[in-house]
Amino acid sequence: MSAPLLEAEGLVRRYAMRRGLFGRGVEIAAVDGVSLRIEAGRTLGLVGESGCGKSTTGRLVLGLERPDAGSVRFEGRPMPPPGTAEWRRLRARMQMVFQDPLGALDRRLPIGEQIREPLDIHGLLDPAARQARVFDLLHAVGLREDHAARYPHELSGGQRQRAVLARALATGPSLLVADEPISALDVSIQAQVMNLLADIQARFGIAMLFISHDLRAVRQLSHRIAVMYLGRIVEEGEPDAVLHDPAHPYARALVSAIPHPGRAVRRILLPGDPPNPADRPPGCAFHPRCPAAVARCRAESPALKPRADGRLVACHVAQGEAEAPIRQAA
Ligand code: SF4
Repeated sequence: MSAPLLEAEGLVRRYAMRRGLFGRGVEIAAVDGVSLRIEAGRTLGLVGESGCGKSTTGRLVLGLERPDAGSVRFEGRPMPPPGTAEWRRLRARMQMVFQDPLGALDRRLPIGEQIREPLDIHGLLDPAARQARVFDLLHAVGLREDHAARYPHELSGGQRQRAVLARALATGPSLLVADEPISALDVSIQAQVMNLLADIQARFGIAMLFISHDLRAVRQLSHRIAVMYLGRIVEEGEPDAVLHDPAHPYARALVSAIPHPGRAVRRILLPGDPPNPADRPPGCAFHPRCPAAVARCRAESPALKPRADGRLVACHVAQGEAEAPIRQAA
């Protein structure tokens, strides 16, 4: 197997927080031992509920935050310390697309200048060629050359996200981390931006970490899907396997919530809310909500392990390592 473009191993990111005004400080692990790999030109979809740690994982991968433990290798080399010349050189090869395009753009600068900015910062191309590159990028994302002179507030939401994409592509990255890139857009625009992302990936051969709470969006773009719960990956595999026959009970509940027009699908309703990361349940963190929990789940945290079908699953029952469930799914 060839070396992956990106390889993250055992990433951990903890934050200190205080319970109440005078309460004692506690540490929460937003990301708790995440490992992932992305091959060149492929997309890994990272899915889970809000607050499960997927955006933090994206920032760790890019070096925008330092992990408390674990490592990231990109293009076969360890990520250098942030702020160094080598880090800046590698960062030009890995770019991020944020959820809120208006927040990601500078309201005081014309779009064309913002797309050219990464070329200026990294000293790529000569100044005359940079303007031609800006126009090429505008065309690549479905905007016109006259959009270069406009300010962010003069564009629609969809056009702003296209401009953000053009800026992310300026340095010729080999990896895009797209964090909920369509969730701030009107539903009518979401499909256009998804098609554009697919088109860009096919044309430029860019790998992508596509982060979303929306399994339907993840399915459209991903070559593999990883499901996160409370800071950990609980299932990872090919989209067909994860979406048609999810192995982890949490993945089953997520998949059951996907609407299928004209087809009745029994939705699995999980009891309660995701637990507070500061009060992580012992054993499997999902056990208080899990319809398939067994006695072992309360005491022992399941490791993410490969199954015979090639999928990675963190579940005693799905691994065939546990006795009959305490209670069956409703
Ligand atoms: Fe449910 Fe147990 Fe599997 Fe956790 S390990 S998902 S509690 S069955």
